[in-house]
Amino acid sequence: MVLGKWFVASAAVAMIATFSGCSKPGTPEAPSLATTGVTDAMINAGVGNEWLTYGGGYDEQRDSPLTQISDKNVAGLGLAWFADLDTARGQEATPLMHDGVLYVTSAWSKVFAYDAKTGALKWSYDPQVPRETVVRACCDAVNRGVALYGDKVFIATLDGRLVALNQSDGKVVWSKLAVPDQESYTITGAPRVAKGLVLIGSGGAEYKARGSISAFDWMTGRKVWTFHTVPGNPADGFDQEGPNAKAMEDAAKTWGGDWWKLGGGGTVWDSITYDPQTNLVLFGTGNAEPWNPNAVDRGVGDALYTASVVAVDADTGTYRWHFQETPEDRWDFDSDAQIMLADLEIGGKKRHVALHAPKNGYFYVLDAKTGEFLNAKPFATQNWTTGIDPKTGKPTINPEARYEKTGKAFISLPGAMGAHTWQPMSMSDKTGLVYIPTNQVAQAYLAQSDWKPSAIGYQIGLDAGKTAIPADKAARAAARAMTTGALLAWDPVKQAKVWSVELKGPWNGGTLATAGNLVFQGNAASQFVAYSADKGAKLWSFPSQTGIVAAPMTYFIDGKQYVAVLAGWGGAYDLVAGAVVNKSGITRNISRLLVFKLGGTAKLPPIPPMAKQVLDPPPFVGTAEQVALGSDLYGRYCVVCHGDAAISGGLVPDLRHSGAIASADAIKAIVLGGALKHNGMVSFKDGLTPDDAEAIRQYLIKRANEDKALETTSMK
Ligand code: CA
Repeated sequence: MVLGKWFVASAAVAMIATFSGCSKPGTPEAPSLATTGVTDAMINAGVGNEWLTYGGGYDEQRDSPLTQISDKNVAGLGLAWFADLDTARGQEATPLMHDGVLYVTSAWSKVFAYDAKTGALKWSYDPQVPRETVVRACCDAVNRGVALYGDKVFIATLDGRLVALNQSDGKVVWSKLAVPDQESYTITGAPRVAKGLVLIGSGGAEYKARGSISAFDWMTGRKVWTFHTVPGNPADGFDQEGPNAKAMEDAAKTWGGDWWKLGGGGTVWDSITYDPQTNLVLFGTGNAEPWNPNAVDRGVGDALYTASVVAVDADTGTYRWHFQETPEDRWDFDSDAQIMLADLEIGGKKRHVALHAPKNGYFYVLDAKTGEFLNAKPFATQNWTTGIDPKTGKPTINPEARYEKTGKAFISLPGAMGAHTWQPMSMSDKTGLVYIPTNQVAQAYLAQSDWKPSAIGYQIGLDAGKTAIPADKAARAAARAMTTGALLAWDPVKQAKVWSVELKGPWNGGTLATAGNLVFQGNAASQFVAYSADKGAKLWSFPSQTGIVAAPMTYFIDGKQYVAVLAGWGGAYDLVAGAVVNKSGITRNISRLLVFKLGGTAKLPPIPPMAKQVLDPPPFVGTAEQVALGSDLYGRYCVVCHGDAAISGGLVPDLRHSGAIASADAIKAIVLGGALKHNGMVSFKDGLTPDDAEAIRQYLIKRANEDKALETTSMK
């Protein structure tokens, strides 16, 4: 009996619990709390001179009370110091600052500790993530940062470990596996700590993953609880690890077919918000897996608790409430964007609320204690619904959006990049506005008719080969014209836009609000910018030489306010969308930590010249059948890293330019033999035959010749 096993285990734990006052049967042993170093009270106090947790404070508002840098003097902001990073991948971390030390992570889950005033490196830690891990990471080898608690630093690694380091010297104190297995799961998110519990989930809902979030004792790494976001195999009682059997049984009624065979998705890959007022942990869950419901015959059930905000008891992980933002998800509408807590007057009543702007394009206001739906409004153009029920918050789904039912491609706004995703938003106490980095990236969804799971790679059930942007100037120009992004200032009480700044493209940086009437944001056009928080006037900018996707933070030491941001373009949009819809072509990746202060005079080295690549493919001598098969297989196995229509965004090799496509043997050595495994390009022999590899090669040669012809045409 599942419940019996849980009860016996927890009763035994209760008997040896040291926190006897908190322990009762069914309650896991509570960890000890930090009394020195970083404490709960310090994190709860929010941003001050220090920045102690990913979202600034437990409220995740990223709102600083510092005013030394303000709208009056920001024009005098200059570079104080910078540090080059050794990983040329997307940089998504928010640095933390405590006791004069700046803690930052880079791609491949590396940790660096700098003197926050001078930039001198104190120590660094490399968890040696095997590079082949990236084949099960949908969205680059990124990491969003560490957590601090007591005298320790916590890093969750791409390959699924949770590691505790000493703040003083970066030495490993303990290391635990934080995912169910290392085959399908990856971690890119920043852990959070509350009441001595280190909280972390994982990514992987594009593969074979069952979403979960777990809590670990900060001193020992002992796992205290796990909450699964999706029910397991009914034959095993849905849930074998905790007190959530009823919640899992309820969720199972919303699934069809054999959903558990591919895990079901719902991964908790970014947002984790501890609410000290309610003692709840709120988190967002990812897409249902596979995206195409027909692929596992899961039908049009709601697929709980995917694409939802879920709340559990912080001490035990016991289910308290959920609100599903995207029922019957089939569009990769993760609800993983950060969940912000605020106290707002709504309808003449003071309410303690959770604010959320997930991928699906609606801005939600929920009661933070009960999950009651208060209201929602679209903050971006969307066509997957025809509206939302003002009482329940349940969307009316556009029948055309059920692409697996129609058998036709559905061009959706938003798409899998989301109207807003992990790039953090911020909220200013002074203006009451929320500053959201928004995207407009359309996506075509077409169900693959005869899709079967495979032993490797993406498992989403779409036909990405048939929906790739064609080698046609007009089609590409049209796609570019509608692909854009903005910084949006949103009033969460009126549920209305106050101002917005149109940006050159989508996939810009997260935001920081400060009491100096400022909002800081880096962008895809290689600028780090300060705007006035009340009006959105551009007051200052710095040429960052590289696209910025991470969010800035700020701190104060010895009479000086600093603003820090991690620069380095990358992540999902760069990889999948490539450069085909970018208005300015390839955005560079120069990975670097930038730190500013008033009167700063440091200078970046000159930007290195960009190597000019001219397409020079071998002539196409393959068959139409090979190209059709190659396009199909490329869409399934390659597009997620090497880009739509085989056009790379610049982070990974552009295969149209690869010398290897001239040789059938070279391609087989790489695709099947794993010759480039050390770079992350593993063998795909579990999914592809030698004929398949040759078909992909012929498709790449065809694509390279098409684009060479287009380039020649455009030069005339
Ligand atoms: Ca997803």
